[in-house]
This record gives sequence, C-alpha cells and structure tokens, in this order.
Amino acid sequence: MSDIIQLLPDHVANQIAAGEVVQRPASVVKELLENAIDAKSTQINLLVKDAGKTLIQVSDNGIGMSITDARLSFERHATSKIKVADDLFSLKTKGFRGEALASIAAIAHIDLKTKKADEEIGTHLLLKGSEVISQEPCVTPNGTMVSIKNLFFNIPARRNFLKSDAVEMRHIIDEFHRVALAHPQITFSLHHNDNELFQLPKANQRQRIVAIFGGKTNEKLVPVEEETEVVNIKGFVGKPEFARKTRGEQFFFVNNRFIKSGYLHHAINAAYEGLLQDKKYPAYFLFLEVDPKSIDINIHPTKTEIKFDDEHAIYAILRSAVKHSLGQFDITPSLDFSHNPDLDTPYHYKDKNPEMPKVEVDRNFNPFKQESFSKGSHASFPTSKPKQKDWESLYTGLNPKDSSGISNIEFESEEITGDLFSGNIEDTQQGMFQLQKKYIVSTIKGGMLVIHQNRAHYRILYEEFLKSITVEATLSQQLLFPLVLKFSLPEIKMLKEVKNSLEQIGFDFEKITEEEVKICGIPTMVSESEVALVLDEVLADLEQNIPKQENQHTRILAESLAKNTAIKSGTVLNPEEQNSIVNRLFACKEPGVTPENEVVFIRLNAEDLDKKFM
Ligand code: ADP
Ligand code: MG
Repeated sequence: MSDIIQLLPDHVANQIAAGEVVQRPASVVKELLENAIDAKSTQINLLVKDAGKTLIQVSDNGIGMSITDARLSFERHATSKIKVADDLFSLKTKGFRGEALASIAAIAHIDLKTKKADEEIGTHLLLKGSEVISQEPCVTPNGTMVSIKNLFFNIPARRNFLKSDAVEMRHIIDEFHRVALAHPQITFSLHHNDNELFQLPKANQRQRIVAIFGGKTNEKLVPVEEETEVVNIKGFVGKPEFARKTRGEQFFFVNNRFIKSGYLHHAINAAYEGLLQDKKYPAYFLFLEVDPKSIDINIHPTKTEIKFDDEHAIYAILRSAVKHSLGQFDITPSLDFSHNPDLDTPYHYKDKNPEMPKVEVDRNFNPFKQESFSKGSHASFPTSKPKQKDWESLYTGLNPKDSSGISNIEFESEEITGDLFSGNIEDTQQGMFQLQKKYIVSTIKGGMLVIHQNRAHYRILYEEFLKSITVEATLSQQLLFPLVLKFSLPEIKMLKEVKNSLEQIGFDFEKITEEEVKICGIPTMVSESEVALVLDEVLADLEQNIPKQENQHTRILAESLAKNTAIKSGTVLNPEEQNSIVNRLFACKEPGVTPENEVVFIRLNAEDLDKKFM
C-alpha cells in the first residue's frame, strides 16, 4: 500500500496558521503595532481604511530591515527575536513566534518599504497571497512601513464573516488602546478614512490614559503601587463612584503586554467588594512586572492569555494593593506633579462673565381680557424648570433598604396590564400613599393598585422621549453658564451620531469639538448636576447595543435616557408627584410594563383581601 501522508505546501500551512493569528483586521493591527514596538520605534502611525477591510498601514521609525531580512520576514518561523529555546524563558519582545507576517501574507496583499539607518537605500517588497511579486530598491525614510491591503481577498468566507465597519473599527481601536497604554513613551497616531482619531504624544502613564479616555478620566484615577518579590504593581484604578455599566476601561498588562485574566479580574472585584452598585464595572489600568521566567505566554497564539507560576500570591497581592489604594484616596488627595490642572475641572466656569437672565414680556398681554385670567399670566419668565421643579429631589436618597414604614407585606395577586382607569381616575386622587419610598399605592374601584414608582416613571419618560425624538421636540432649559464636558474621541463620535435626537429631547449643543462638548441647554427633567452622568450612561448603552437601523438608535436612546433619569426607588414623593406619576402612567400606550418588559404595577382586588381575612 502506498504512503498517504504528505507535507502541506507552505502557502497552505500559512493559510491555516492565518486562521489562528488573524481573526479580523484588528488582529493584523495588533501584530503590526507589536512589530513596530519590537523594532524600538519612538513614533508609530496607524492608518486604516474601511475599518481595515481595504487598508491597514503601520509606519514606524524603528530599526528597519535589510534587503534579505525583509524577504525572510515573510517566511514561516522567521524571527529575529529568539535564537535558542532558552530565549523563550526570558522574553522581552512582543513577538517571537515568527508567524505573524507569514500568516498575514497568505491572506492579503502586502506592500512593505523598509530601510535601516546605516544603509543608503531602502527596499520595496510586494507580495500577494504568500507570493513575492517584486522587490526593488527604493527611497524611504529610516524605519518600516507595512501596508496590508484587501485582507482575506482569497478567503471569501472569512471576508463575509467580518462585521460592520463600526464593529470592526471598535476592535481596532481596542487593540490600539492596549498597545498605546502600555507604551506611553512612544508617540502614536490613528487615522481612519482621513479622520484623525488619536494623536498621542509621548507622555507619562497617567497622561496617556487621560489622552485616550478624555480629560474627565483624570479625576477618577487612584494610583496603585506595590513592590514585592513576586510582582511589582503600578497603575491606576477608578474611584468606585465612577464605575460604569460597561467593562470597557479594564486593562491588565504583564511585562507591558496586554493580557486577559478572569482570575486577576476577580482579585480586583474582591478589592472593590461593597463599594460598587450592582452590575457596575470599575476602571483599572494595572501594570504587573514579573520575572519573565515565571510566566508562560506561549499558551495562546494571539498571546493574550498567560500562566503565572505563582498565581495565588499574585492574586492576594493585587487585591490588597488595590484595596489599600481605594482606602486611601479619599483621605489623602492624590498628588501628581506632572498633571495638567486644566483637566481637573469638568466645567470651565473660568473666564466667563455671568449673563443676566432675559425676561420676556408678552406685549399683547391684556389683563382685562377674561380668558387670560383663567389661564394664568401670559408673561413668561425663563424659569429653569417649569413644571418639573419637584423632580429636583429625584436623585437623592438612593438606598431603598433603609426606608422605614411598613415592610414585608406580601401581596399575592395577578398581574394585569389592561386598561384600568376607565372612568375612575378621580378616585385615585384621594386614597393614595407611598409605601417604603418605593411603591405608590392607590385605591381604585374594587381594590387597589401597587405601582412601582421607578418603573412607572421609566415607562412614562420612555414614551415621552420617544415622542419628542420622533414627533415634536420638547422645550429645553437654557443654562446660565454653558457646561463643558470632556469625552473620549469614540464617545464624541457617538454623540455626533445621536446629536439630532438629543436636541429633540432638549439638549442644546453650542459646540462639539474633538474632545469636548459645550452644552447650553438641557432637557427639563434632567438636573444640571446630573448631565455628565446621564450622558455617560447613555453613551455606554449606545456603545453596548450597536443599532443596525436608524429607528433602533432612537429606541435605545429613549430607553437609556428614560432609565437614567427616572426617579429611583428610595425617593420620597409628595402627593402631587404621586398623582402626576399615576396620571401620566395611565396616559401611556403601554402602562403595564417597562421598555424592558418588567411589570410596572399590580392590582389587588377586594376579594383577594377578603380571602386573607377568612
Ligand atoms: P515575530 O514578531 O514573532 O518575530 P513576525 O512575523 O511578526 O514575527 O516578524 C518577523 C520578523 O520580521 C521579526 O522578527 C522582525 O525581525 C522583522 N520585522 C517585522 N516587522 C518589523 C518592523 N516593523 N521593523 C523591523 N523589523 C520587523
Ligand atoms: Mg511579530
């Protein structure tokens, strides 16, 4: 019988390897940036077109390659970074497997220009699907410029599998963040389709974080520092009150390499125990330095997982270091002599002369006209919060547990979602009270209703916001002093996308620049002090639920705004407010459930009560 085993041709082997190394454009970005760093560059520019589907280009000012090295770099297992197996245990470089360029070459068109500082002339190499098309001398600056075009051109299945540009771009930005955070001493830039997304000058660690995530990050950071025999820890964690709904800003670096570790993540969560609200994620940027011999980074082809020899010790040290820092920050203000004080104040009140509020008088007002009296005065004053004044207290007293009063009454009842108040809304004016700062109890014909105040308000605001976005714009309360809020570039991008809708709701943007927005008007139901937080949450929600169609955008926006501005459980409501909620709730299209399908109220019939007394 003849032998049947064959060696795979190189280009096939490379394509298979590519499947492991290159999942999407972002994987290419990661490999190219890492190569540029290994080449000792001090300036690295990344340019992508169509979220990397058309072009990914990285240019650096590093050591460059000789004519032969340039050619060799695309061979499998061609690396300049390890020579003997022992080198594997003292790695100081990002790459070492020598398969990135070979893999990428197998599935794309490559254009490489490179020159070493001590050589007169550079070399220009063109490849297409592992095949060298040409190599010629060329004039090019010191360093390397690699352009990857038409990724997956020869694997249509992979190409079709790519997500929308927005999603792929997010992955690219994530990789860019990881690399840029780990190397603040290197200047980075990122351009997408001729838009500059990031321009990061050489900086210290804190400045780099702020440059990426926006000026308001600065005040949120608490430094962490711990030196032990097993591990040195440096970096920052976010103050608990700034924890967000997304996991976005969580970074571990081990020996300057971004890694994912559920185990270490758990250590951080343990340090925050009792300090966070439900489902909130703290920010962290932590840099662990360990002996390269004590880790194994070889266990995953994309090298984001890692194995420590001394995992338990590192867990314990990390947890206690973070806990210690969190315990300190509110007593001793963190001093950072290199920081830019401009970044500290979120609102730029400086250099502003207060403006006198304008009083508008209705010149047609005729006090003798009977009708005017019945409607009240026509003269309108710029009250900052017309009817909603009462809602100012909506954001205080968040802890529903400490409420006094009747507790633990158990209701057994059916849920209803139907039309309840046909004809007897008036009944609710009397016989209404608040229970446990959480429910509004209202008597109705034949029984009573128990209404979840937070959910009811959520439903009300949701429908109102939807209406203002899609049908008629609502009034905005003009601010005496415009608010200036800082955001990161991706957040600014998102804001611009939903700007129109936000304006319909009552936001008034005077200016949106690359890193801040100037707001001169806000919706009446949002208090000024809450604007930053609400916008933060809304952007987090939009980021998490990337909408496919325009109208989904609107829905997510309305939902998020409503959720974040609805009165919380634990808020005391006066009778007028209770009444307003009940009336507005039953004017809703779907009063029975929240936009997330949670029950808003239940009905207890007299018979149900009767049964209790039998
Ligand atoms: P690895 O990084 O694992 O060594 P790669 O396939 O990514 O493997 O790169 C192969 C080799 O090509 C590297 O070892 C390095 O010598 C060279 N190389 C790649 N990119 C650059 C660059 N930007 N500047 C200088 N040399 C580079
Ligand atoms: Mg590499």
